[in-house]
Amino acid sequence: MTDISLPPNITFIERDWLSANHVVFHDDDGATLVDTGYIAFADITLAKLDTALGNAPLKRIINTHLHSDHIGCNGVVQRAHPDVTITIPADEVTAMENWDAPEQMLTYADQEAEPFAWDAVLDAGQTITLGGLEWKTIATPGHDMGSLVLYSPEVRILISADALWHNSFGFVVPQSIDPRPLAAQRATFKRLAELDVALVIPGHGPMFTDFAASLKNASDKLEAFAQDDMKIAKNVVKGMFIYSMMWREMMPVSELVSYVKRIGVHRDYNAWLFKLSDEAYADWLLSEAIRTGKVTLGDGVIRTV
Ligand SMILES: [Zn+2]
Repeated sequence: MTDISLPPNITFIERDWLSANHVVFHDDDGATLVDTGYIAFADITLAKLDTALGNAPLKRIINTHLHSDHIGCNGVVQRAHPDVTITIPADEVTAMENWDAPEQMLTYADQEAEPFAWDAVLDAGQTITLGGLEWKTIATPGHDMGSLVLYSPEVRILISADALWHNSFGFVVPQSIDPRPLAAQRATFKRLAELDVALVIPGHGPMFTDFAASLKNASDKLEAFAQDDMKIAKNVVKGMFIYSMMWREMMPVSELVSYVKRIGVHRDYNAWLFKLSDEAYADWLLSEAIRTGKVTLGDGVIRTV
């Protein structure tokens, strides 16, 4: 294992698949929190944030993009720290104005988030000072078309959100539904490849140092997806179903058919791509979810492991 140390004014808080990781920057006039986690796990967000802050005030939240696992606790954190402002990427303003559109994958994907008001926007190509270091903002459309990441040339750290994880990245939607995200993600990888990066702080998973290899593996994965729209579709609906089950914790199996008819991502992806009966789609989805080992079926109830 590589020993990874961060500059003193940066705290990395690793979460899990359901809540995005956080980064806390400590400055003399207060701290900045990058991304806030999923709303169902607000208690964990607040506790971890308190530990990172100590007695320092929190002055600002910056969101990398508008998915529920990144913005979910904005309101909760703001109520706990009333002076905090919220900054979003400028490219997310339209999505904010169209809150809960299908692309945001909230209601559409059976996820929840509390609407919030933003105070400021960050454009791509800006330089901001956080933790005593200068950070460049870089547009990283693809997984989310308004996504923004932070890069410090001085310490060669990339805060990559869901644009790049270790050997992977946040899902993109099938090209037959919208061809733009996959193409944008490809361009995002090209843009990231131009950076000199020693350490990546991703939106999910541990920090990593093998930037070039991870970017190559993520790009290869994207190109495999580019060849096979059904592979993308399966990846998206399985991921969304397991995500929902993990925060719901259980669901009677008798409700699954009405669930896949009701939840947009399942209803639409089945109608547009899978073209199965609701019953056959529900059966397939459940068996795939069980195969991952993350859910089980017993006594007529689907449960998370
Ligand atoms: Zn995301």
